[in-house]
Amino acid sequence: MRLATRLVRNTIAWIRKTVYFDNNATTPLDPNVKKFIASILSFYGNPSSIHSSGSRSRELIEWARQQVAGVINASPDEIVLTSGATEANNTVIKTVAAIKSKGHFITSAIEHPSVLQVHKSLEKKGFPVTYLKVNKSGMIDLTKLTQAIRPDTVLISIMHVNNEIGSIQPIEEIAQIAQKHSILFHSDIVQSFSKFPINVKELPVDYLSFSAHKIYGPKGIGGLYVREGRPLEPLIEGGHQEKTLRAGTESLFNIAGFGKAAEIARQVDLAVYRNNLLAIKKALYEGIKSVFPDAQINGDFEQGSPTTLNIFLPGVDNREFIAFLDFYRIEVSTGSACISGSDEPSHVLLALGLTPEEALSSFRIGIGRFNTISDAESFIKILHYFISESQDFFDYLFPQDLTPAILSNPAMLVVEIRTAAQRKKFKSFPGAIISEISMSALRKLPKDKSIILMCEDGYLANIYALRLKNAGWKNVKAVFGGHRAWRTLYQITE
Ligand code: PMP
Repeated sequence: MRLATRLVRNTIAWIRKTVYFDNNATTPLDPNVKKFIASILSFYGNPSSIHSSGSRSRELIEWARQQVAGVINASPDEIVLTSGATEANNTVIKTVAAIKSKGHFITSAIEHPSVLQVHKSLEKKGFPVTYLKVNKSGMIDLTKLTQAIRPDTVLISIMHVNNEIGSIQPIEEIAQIAQKHSILFHSDIVQSFSKFPINVKELPVDYLSFSAHKIYGPKGIGGLYVREGRPLEPLIEGGHQEKTLRAGTESLFNIAGFGKAAEIARQVDLAVYRNNLLAIKKALYEGIKSVFPDAQINGDFEQGSPTTLNIFLPGVDNREFIAFLDFYRIEVSTGSACISGSDEPSHVLLALGLTPEEALSSFRIGIGRFNTISDAESFIKILHYFISESQDFFDYLFPQDLTPAILSNPAMLVVEIRTAAQRKKFKSFPGAIISEISMSALRKLPKDKSIILMCEDGYLANIYALRLKNAGWKNVKAVFGGHRAWRTLYQITE
């Protein structure tokens, strides 16, 4: 691949709009939700105050609660608003542990950490926990679930749609099994809320957890459905808010945004929406297979959620793959927190039977309401680039690779290309040479040194690295994620 061609491609990608395919991690705010939140930012009354401005805020909260309840056909009285699904999951599981001080818990091996970790903590406190295994498609076995039930089982917590592989557990049947044995049943429905039809009048579930930022609402707000009469103890005490079940002055703007996102979601024709998702998922899968014939699905294409595609690419390092796509403005995910320096294989993929190496060669696409077929086409085009360029593309360092040894090596130069304003806000990388943002400044760099380029973000450094190489510098690397990733990693705040 000629450097000049790469440079042109990279520059075009840099000015092109981002293709966002990480909707399982979070969704972008719906523009109508944004508008709505902006329209109520002048609401200042404390919802607990009885005067007019307080009542106005209270009314907004109750309207939002009604919208959220409507998504699952619940009564607004059965909705407790929380800071998100992590809190909702914690509240339910800890409540049951608090009231049934010796009970046995059943969950699955592929739950979100906010369910899994709470069970691990309960185990440390002496509660027995069964973690149900899943098959290669990511499904639990209902016979094994029934066999796991003991006379002292107090809670079954099984998620609906898995956030990494999109497997869909049969929560209707699980709810019936739980009901038959008089065991409380909780489901984390974060990934299916408003995307799959769920009707609590027909589904005998006791608790459901959900989150606004997966339905094009704001982050830091979510909720819990608690069937009337089921126990719930507050995780956060100290006020009468949410009927004392979740103390603290309500996050008014977030709640209003959640309400608006729920209202919009309720108007979406689910069949049409899901068909769109499926068409995109199919185009992506077929495209991926045409570029990587040995690619394999983690989970099951037919049985899985139309929102999710998790793919194993033999021989490909998922960190490098994601970095490559990111340079071309395509955002997908590894399923593990790679930028934070942790490259642990995903517990979900390991539970499917993948080896750690296979898990670290897998990536996840999360398709959302704002994606189009043309996003899938862009993705496939960049996959073709990956094949032709990846041999010489990976001339970059992750911020965690900027070790003292590298920094003290006189043959290496870390060159920081950031604006004065950016440098004023966050201090420069220690030991870096500061360069102006121009090729003429960069051309003054010595050719006999190994140059490590760091910009505010990753993309720009890659473009400059390519340009320098094109101009005859042999040894140039870009810092992936740039200064932003470095300071996030080391929690540099000023
Ligand atoms: N459960 C699942 C399945 C999720 O995908 C997430 C978000 N990644 C959560 C729980 C946590 O939600 P929140 O970010 O609202 O705490």
